[in-house]
Amino acid sequence: TIGVICRDINGNLSGACSTSGLAYKMPGRVGDSPIIGAGLYVDNEIGAAAATGLGEEIMKTVGSFLIVELMRNGKSPQEACEEAVKRTAKRAANPEDFQVAYIAMNKAGETGYYSLQQGFAMMEYSNGTNRRKESAYYLK
Ligand code: ASP
Repeated sequence: TIGVICRDINGNLSGACSTSGLAYKMPGRVGDSPIIGAGLYVDNEIGAAAATGLGEEIMKTVGSFLIVELMRNGKSPQEACEEAVKRTAKRAANPEDFQVAYIAMNKAGETGYYSLQQGFAMMEYSNGTNRRKESAYYLK
């Protein structure tokens, strides 16, 4: 999945995500990416979030919407991403068997990113510079 969150010079937020879904998926499977609130959520008053990983688990917490609501209640984008990943880790029977990862940005342009497992990275572009950032992760 590719998730993108943008903020323009006026502070307006937008987001997009695109996915090939899962390998060997059942015909007709719908993952999290096309479901607003699961794979992507943008509220121009608060912030935006996007997900990658096992869509079935992301949907169970409505993860991107959850992150935006946590930011609405005062959490930073980083804190919100960590909380969403922890919820999945705690409710899943086998969290070591899949990946879930999020990116988020608030109205001020602060960013966050966090994953369940090692191996997630995000790119941050600002002022003409690209930066690759390796995510911290929950399961050590
Ligand atoms: N989230 C996608 C899905 O479950 C898969 C992925 O991120 O690679 O359809």
